[in-house]
Amino acid sequence: MTMTRGNLFILSAPSGAGKSSLIKALLDKQANIKVSVSHTTRSPRPGENNGEHYHFVSVDEFKALIDKGDFFEWAQVFENYYGTSKQAIEDQLNKGIDVFLDIDWQGARQVRALMPEVKTVFILPPSQSELEQRLNNRGQDSQEVIAARMAEAKSESSHYDEFDYVIVNDNFDTALCELEHIVVAARLQTKAQQARHKALIADLLAD
Ligand code: GDP
Ligand code: ADP
Ligand code: 5GP
Repeated sequence: MTMTRGNLFILSAPSGAGKSSLIKALLDKQANIKVSVSHTTRSPRPGENNGEHYHFVSVDEFKALIDKGDFFEWAQVFENYYGTSKQAIEDQLNKGIDVFLDIDWQGARQVRALMPEVKTVFILPPSQSELEQRLNNRGQDSQEVIAARMAEAKSESSHYDEFDYVIVNDNFDTALCELEHIVVAARLQTKAQQARHKALIADLLAD
């Protein structure tokens, strides 16, 4: 079997639509997928660990990384900086591992320009009231932060049609199953299968 380069996926959504929960559940079900750990200047939420959920850095440290050219993409979201380092994805893709980016629409635009083969997925919540409910239920952000995120939800959602796939995260298991299908379909693309099953194809086509 020949090694094939991993697929790159982007998951975007308004805050609270379920990106992190869906990615976590997907990683528990499917082998050979990693989520890229972004750098951010926002403060850690209760239960978030440095290096696991994000690399938490100061604004000065973030700017130094921009100047060094370490970021594959970066953007300012909710007054904080967020960015994906080149290192967070290249090593994994080269090892044949699929990589998920949980990034906003501005980052998605940058990645699309750099890697047009990226598969992009937008998650919509089932309603505005359910989105607000989920942000409240998560219980990790202040009322002020939740209000700011709800206010941003509309402009974030308005970019849904720049994405290849749209999933409505109403029933969690249904949404997870739909996301899994996108990953599996990407793995079955002819170019990847050609590399993976080179010997079989040669054998089947031999005289
Ligand atoms: P969440 O929306 O509840 O997941 O809250 P976060 O604070 O984790 O993320 C805030 C926003 O920043 C979301 O829109 C993320 O998609 C976006 N984001 C996180 N990491 C990155 C990154 O590395 N690059 C970019 N461009 N956006 C990011
Ligand atoms: P995001 O990463 O997009 O900000 P999260 O994954 O943190 O969103 O989800 C926000 C909250 O909503 C979490 O408390 C999560 O457990 C909950 N949640 C996610 N998906 C669903 C769903 N389909 N039904 C009910 N609650 C959900
Ligand atoms: P949170 O602060 O709730 O973890 O994330 C807020 C938003 O920032 C989410 O929409 C998330 O997708 C986005 N985000 C997180 N990491 C990155 C990143 O590395 N790049 C970009 N562009 N957006 C990110």
